[in-house]
Amino acid sequence: MKNLLIIGGVAAGATAAARARRLDNNVNITLLEAGADVSFANCGLPYYLGRDIAYRSSLILASEETFHDQYRVNVHTHTQAVAIDREKKEVTAHNSQTGETTVFPYDSLILAQGGKPIVPPLPGVDKSHVFQLWTLEDMDRMDRYITEKEPKRAVVVGGGFIGLEMVEALTKRGIAVTLVEMASQVMPNLDGEFAGMLTKELQDYGVKLKLGKSLQSVEDKCVRLNDGTAIDTDFVLLSVGVRPTLQLVKDANLELGTCGGLKVDEHLRTSDPFIYAAGDMIEITQKVSKKLVRLPLAGPANRQGRIAAENALGGNHPYTGALGSSIVKVFEVAAGSTGLSLKAAKDAGFDADAVVVHKASHTAYYPGSEKVSLMLVWDKASNTVLGAQVAGRVGVDKRIDVVATAIAGGLTIDDLAELDLAYAPPFNSPNGPVNMAAFTAINKQTDFSPSILAHEFEQFVLEQSPIAIDLRDPISYAKANLRGTNNLSQNVLRENLDRIPKEQTILLLSDDGQKGHVALRMLKGAGFEKVYNLSGGYISLERHARAVGFEHLSVGLFPIERKTVHDKKEDVSEGLQAEAACETEESGPIILDVRTPMEFSMGAYPGAINVGLDSLAQWAETIEDKNREILIYCASGARSSYGMRMLKQMGFTNVENGGGLHDMMARR
Ligand SMILES: Cc1cc2nc3c(=O)[nH]c(=O)nc-3n(C[C@H](O)[C@H](O)[C@H](O)COP(=O)(O)OP(=O)(O)OC[C@H]3O[C@@H](n4cnc5c(N)ncnc54)[C@H](O)[C@@H]3O)c2cc1C
Repeated sequence: MKNLLIIGGVAAGATAAARARRLDNNVNITLLEAGADVSFANCGLPYYLGRDIAYRSSLILASEETFHDQYRVNVHTHTQAVAIDREKKEVTAHNSQTGETTVFPYDSLILAQGGKPIVPPLPGVDKSHVFQLWTLEDMDRMDRYITEKEPKRAVVVGGGFIGLEMVEALTKRGIAVTLVEMASQVMPNLDGEFAGMLTKELQDYGVKLKLGKSLQSVEDKCVRLNDGTAIDTDFVLLSVGVRPTLQLVKDANLELGTCGGLKVDEHLRTSDPFIYAAGDMIEITQKVSKKLVRLPLAGPANRQGRIAAENALGGNHPYTGALGSSIVKVFEVAAGSTGLSLKAAKDAGFDADAVVVHKASHTAYYPGSEKVSLMLVWDKASNTVLGAQVAGRVGVDKRIDVVATAIAGGLTIDDLAELDLAYAPPFNSPNGPVNMAAFTAINKQTDFSPSILAHEFEQFVLEQSPIAIDLRDPISYAKANLRGTNNLSQNVLRENLDRIPKEQTILLLSDDGQKGHVALRMLKGAGFEKVYNLSGGYISLERHARAVGFEHLSVGLFPIERKTVHDKKEDVSEGLQAEAACETEESGPIILDVRTPMEFSMGAYPGAINVGLDSLAQWAETIEDKNREILIYCASGARSSYGMRMLKQMGFTNVENGGGLHDMMARR
C-alpha cells in the first residue's frame, strides 16, 4: 500500500489529507502536526477573543479522532518532523509529549508547514505580557491573561489584517488600544484613500494611532518607540508579519524561491519529484502580474492542499496561482482588494489606469444603504480589468468577489459595464457599484470624462495651478474643505461660465465624484477643454489626506464621531418622531425641508423645518392660510418638486421649489 505522509495539519495539510482519502480509499495517509490541534480555524481566533464567537469549541473544525473515524488518517499531534531523508524517503519526527522519536516512511510527501509570526529581536519581547496570535494555545494564553489580569491598556504592534482584527477584539474586551504601525498608514497593502476609511473608523472608536513609528523595546509598564516616546501599557500584541517555516526544507536541500518561500512547479511539486508543498510556505504566481509572490492566505492554502493531494497521488492538476483577494473588518467597516493595485499594475509593466466611485450598497431608499467605495484598475491597452479595492460598511465582500471573478475570467471594463447582477432594493441598485465603476472607467478611458485620483491631486495642482471648484453644498463645504477652492453650485457655475477664462485648467470636486462628472460634461459642452474631475470627489480626497496626508495642500478632515462598541444602530422611529415634533411658525414664509430626518440632521437651511414627503399632506392640513409663502427644498430638487406639486393640488398658491440644499444656500 502506498504511503502518503503530510507534515502540517491545519489549512493546507488537513485539506490535503481529506482530499487524498476521497481520491484514494487504499492509500495509507499519515499526518504529523507539531502543535496540539489539527484543522482549527485560525482565522476565527480574533473573533473569539473579541467574543463575537461565544464558544471556543466552534473553532475546532476536526480532531485527531474525527480524522481517523471519517477519513482513516493517522494523525500524530505534538509530533514535529525534524529531518527528511530524501534518499530513503523517510521523515524523522519527535513527539514533544512522550519524547519518542519515530521514523515515518513515505512514497509521496506533502509539506504544509505554514509560517510563524515574526518576533522582532528587540529588548523585552519575551516578557509575559507580550503576545503573538497564531495558534489556539496563543489565543488561550491571551484570553487567560485578559480575564485574570484585566489589563486596561494595550499596544498592538502592526496594522495589517491580524493586528486590526485584534484592535477591535481588545476594544470589545474594554481595553484602550494604541496601534503602532511602521508604515505611514494602516493596511499598507491598500491605497491611502481605502486605508483612510479604516483610519477614521479606528479614530471614531477611540483607538490611538502611532503611524510611521516602530517599536524599540518593551518594558514592564510601557513600550518605547523609535521617536523616543513611551506608551504606557499592560499588554502588548506583536503582529508584524509571518515568516514561512523553512528549516526542514533547507536542511533537506530543497530549492528555495526568489521571494523567501519554498519553490514549487505548476503541479506544486518541489525540486524533489516525490515531495509536494502547499500553503503559506510556498511561492506562487500572482495571476495578473504573473510574478512569483508569497500570499499567506487561507483560501489559496486550502485550494493548494486539494491540488497537492491529487498530484501526490499521481494526478496531473496544474495550479494556476492566486489573485490575492482579501478582506478585513474593523468595527463596522470592511476593506479589501483583489488583483493588482494601480501601483502594482504599473510596476508589473501595465499601462494601467484607475477610477474611484462611492455608490450605494443598495438603493438609498431602502433601509441600511451605505456607500461602497470601489477603485477599479484596468489595462489601457486591452481594457482588461486588473484589480479592485473596496471599502464600506455593507456589501464590500460581494463587490470584491464580483471583480475577482471578472479578473479570473479575463473580462474588460466594457464587459463589467454590461454585467447583469442581481438587483432588488435590499441588495443592490439597478446600476450598482461594480457597473458604475465600469461606466466611470469607460468615461475616463474614452476621454469622455477625464479625471485624476486623490493620490495624484497634489502633483496635479502643483503642475497645473487649476481653478478648483468644489460643487458640494455649503454646509458640507463648511464642515471640511480644501483651502483655496471655490464653493459653487452647478447652477451658479452655469450662470457664470463667461467669467472663467477658457484657457485655464479647471478641477472639479464634488461629494463622491458624480456631480463633478455632470458639471464636467456641462463645461465641455460649453467649450472648456481643460476640465478634470476628482475621481471619488471629496470623500476620496479626505480619506487620502487622513491616511497619508499631503505635503502642500491643506485638506480639512471630517470631525471624529465618538463611538463605542455598545452604540446601537440608528433608530429610524426616533428620526420620525424628531420630524413630527417640529413646529411651524404662526406667520411668515415657511422653509420646508422634505429630506429624511437623517439628511436633515447632517445640516439644513437655517430656520427650515423638516417634513418628509410621506407626512407632507398631513402637515399641510394644519396650515390654514393657503396663500402662505412656502419655499420647499430637498437634496437635489427632485423630491421638493414632487412636494410642490402635492401642495399645489391641495390648494396652496404660493409655493416655490427652492431646488437642492446647495441652491438654497446660494440664495442667502
Ligand atoms: C489569527 C489569524 C487570522 C487569520 N485570518 C485570516 C483571514 O481572515 N483570511 C485569510 O485568508 N487568512 C487568514 N489567516 C491566514 C491563514 O490562516 C493562513 O494563510 C493559513 O492557515 C495557512 O495555512 P497553512 O496550512 O499553510 O499553514 P498553517 O495554518 O500555519 O498550518 C501549518 C501547520 O504546520 C505545523 N508544522 C510546522 N512545522 C511542522 C513540523 N516540522 N512538523 C509538524 N508540523 C509542523 C504547524 O504547527 C502548523 O499547525 C489568519 C491567520 C491567523 C493566525
